[in-house]
Amino acid sequence: MEYPSLSEIDKIYALQQKNTAEIKQLPASKREQLLRKLLTKIKEAENEIQAALYQDFHKSALESTITEILAVEMELKHIIKNIGKWTKDKSVGWSAMFTNVKAYLHYEPKGHVLIITPWNYPFQLPLVHLAACIAAGNTAILKLSEFSPHTNRIVKKILQEVFPEDHVAVLEGEVKETTHLLSLRFDHIHFTGSPAVGKIIMEAASKNLTDITLELGGKSPAVLDRNINVRRVVQNLIWAKFVNAGQTCIAPDYVLVPRQLKSEIEQVFREELREAFGRDAINSPDYARIINKKQFDRLVEALTDAKHLGAQVISGGATDEKELYIEPTVIGQVAMTNSLMTEEIFGPIFPIVYYSQIDEAIKFINDREKPLALYVFSNDGIFNKHVIRYTSAGSTCINDALIQIMHPKLPFGGVNNSGIGQSTGWYGFRAFSHERAVADAKGFPLSKMFWFPYSERTHKFVQ
Ligand code: NAD
Repeated sequence: MEYPSLSEIDKIYALQQKNTAEIKQLPASKREQLLRKLLTKIKEAENEIQAALYQDFHKSALESTITEILAVEMELKHIIKNIGKWTKDKSVGWSAMFTNVKAYLHYEPKGHVLIITPWNYPFQLPLVHLAACIAAGNTAILKLSEFSPHTNRIVKKILQEVFPEDHVAVLEGEVKETTHLLSLRFDHIHFTGSPAVGKIIMEAASKNLTDITLELGGKSPAVLDRNINVRRVVQNLIWAKFVNAGQTCIAPDYVLVPRQLKSEIEQVFREELREAFGRDAINSPDYARIINKKQFDRLVEALTDAKHLGAQVISGGATDEKELYIEPTVIGQVAMTNSLMTEEIFGPIFPIVYYSQIDEAIKFINDREKPLALYVFSNDGIFNKHVIRYTSAGSTCINDALIQIMHPKLPFGGVNNSGIGQSTGWYGFRAFSHERAVADAKGFPLSKMFWFPYSERTHKFVQ
């Protein structure tokens, strides 16, 4: 693959630096126009986008539409609908001492932004974050992952049809190119990827005290209560875990199940997996593949190692290297030292961990890094509240999974190891804006009470 040379990167950077002041002045109406054009181009390119995602992931056309194209279109429509309101100054309200002060927040574009994205949703992630960045009035360099070349090509083509390079530039590159980009001074860096690389981004940003958003990953648990409809919950989990072959940042990573449900849930998983993907999932038109050999090898090694350490495959387990195929796999009795339990799985392997008391499940979660998402399934509201109250997570969905990310009014983000800052909708717009505090004194300046020389009057006032 041809990546830009470092001097080409410098040229694009300089071009955008020069243009940033002008772009910051674009009125909301002009930004909205550009986003409308982007929406039209995406609609026109739907077939090409689906084809590219099939080439990168063997992803079905319908899944590509649901999880990638519609997600972007919905976000764009939401931004277009609200941009006029979001860009307006916002009063912070009245305060007794400040009756003659108009206090408000002014939404100032941050300026020049670097957006770095991963390979797992190579259409949705770059465009959703870029849309907010443009709405907020910034210039952007978008650095795509090196592992989704087909989708990258269409992302680049669409964006080049809408934006000149001194407004939005799309680059591909590996560590060398990204490291170079990180040595340049940006006003905001928005990174989506692993916690390990997130730390590299944060360190690089600290050199210039650049503001950051880190959308990271981790092990997101699903916690089940006894009081559930097992079949419905299993169907729900199968979709959430095996969509995009488990390569979803908020996919349930493992599931905590009450010991009493052991034989029932294992049986239902076998039945429902057969129902979802047929006798042989390799022939299912709905089931995606692993992105590349490196990820495939990592997952197969983890699975093999788990089996050596005594894990029991409840369903699935087949692999095909030529196809980069891993069967939807549910596994029990995984050793806690196995990488399936120590690292984010990010693939179609689903460990079940049994617990006796809910506090044991909560301790299990809290002994690990704070997850990006936590799912809780129970018909008992007190159970759900209890789990939320005693754990921490970027987001939570009760009695469903993944849909929290689709809600236009909820922010998306992690907490500590799973992320810093928030994205999407209003929160995405806000992340790419500087919320400037403005106090506009009308008439009599409040500070006159403290002016020099300090006097009896000042003294009385502070008492
Ligand atoms: P990654 O961290 O390896 O790579 C992400 C980006 O960083 C890529 O563009 C890559 O080129 C770049 N990069 C890689 N190594 C780098 C280095 N040493 N220095 C500078 N840049 C570097 O992640 P990935 O494998 O592409 O994606 C998987 C991870 O992303 C998972 O942890 C997943 O949970 C997470 N993720 C999070 C979200 C979210 O919204 N929170 C969404 C999707 C994926």
